[in-house]
Amino acid sequence: MSDKKNKKVRIAFFDFADCEGCQLQLTYLNEQLVGLLDHVEIVNFREVISEKSDNYDIAIVEGSITRKHDEERVKEIRKNAKIVIAYGACACIGGVNGLRKKFTQQEAKDIVYKGREFPLEAGEPRPVHDVVKVDYYIHGCPTNNEETIKALKSILIGKGYQPPTYPVCVECKLKENVCLFEKRQVCMGPVTRAGCGAWCPSYGNICYGCRGLLDNPATQGEMDILKKHGYTLEELTQKFETYNLCRMMGEQNEPKKS
Ligand code: SF4
Ligand code: SF4
Ligand code: SF4
Repeated sequence: MSDKKNKKVRIAFFDFADCEGCQLQLTYLNEQLVGLLDHVEIVNFREVISEKSDNYDIAIVEGSITRKHDEERVKEIRKNAKIVIAYGACACIGGVNGLRKKFTQQEAKDIVYKGREFPLEAGEPRPVHDVVKVDYYIHGCPTNNEETIKALKSILIGKGYQPPTYPVCVECKLKENVCLFEKRQVCMGPVTRAGCGAWCPSYGNICYGCRGLLDNPATQGEMDILKKHGYTLEELTQKFETYNLCRMMGEQNEPKKS
C-alpha cells in the first residue's frame, strides 16, 4: 500500500472470540517488530498499548465472529479500514471455536458452566469473511511470526499476500522430517495449507490442520496414504474437526482469494 507522503501506515489490531494468542505471538518479535515500526504506527493493540484510535489504514482482526454485537463491530472496523487482514485460525476459518457447532447452545452451556448461571451472550462461531470482506489472510493457531512479517511487508509495498497453495507435507519433506505416518500417527499435513514451515511435524507432533484445508486438496492421494497405513477416513475427519468444523459443516464459504 502506498506511503507516498512518507507517512507511516496506521495499523490497528482487534480481537473477537479467541484466546488472543496470535496477538501475543507478535510480542515475541522483538527487533523485527522494532524494524517494522520504522514504517508503521500501531494505533490499537490492546495487549501492548492502552491508546486507541478509529483512524487506521490496516485492521488486523483476530478471532471468530459470534454475536450480533460482534457483527456490528466488525462492520464498523471494515468501514474504517482500507485493508482488513484476518489473522489466525479463529478469524480465517473459525478455528477451535467451530467445535461449538457440535453442540446446541444449551449443551455447550451445560458442559462449560455446569449448572452455573450462563453469564455470556453467545452465538454461532463464524470466520470474519462470513460477515465482512477480507482482503488478506494470515493463517495458523497461533500465527507464525515469520509469515506475519513477510505478509505485512508484502502488503505494505502494495504486492499483497497470497498464502501458499501447497500442502504442509512439502515444507515437511524439505526439512527432511521422518513422516509421522511411518510412526503410526495420522497427520493432516497432506491436505493442509502450508506456510508454517511444517511447524508441528518438525517437533514430532502431527499437523492438526490449523491453517485450514487446501483449496484443491489431493483427496485421492490422502486416501491412498490412509489406506497404505491402515487408517479410515473417519479417523482423519475426527482430527480435522479440531480446527475445521466451520468449513466441514458447510455453513461458510471458503476464504475468498486475496
Ligand atoms: S488462532 Fe489459536 S492462538 Fe490465535 S487467537 Fe485463535 S485460538 Fe488463539
Ligand atoms: S509428517 Fe505429516 S506433514 Fe510431514 S510428510 Fe508426513 S503427513 Fe506430511
Ligand atoms: S503443522 Fe499443521 S497444525 Fe502445525 S502449525 Fe502447521 S498447519 Fe498448523
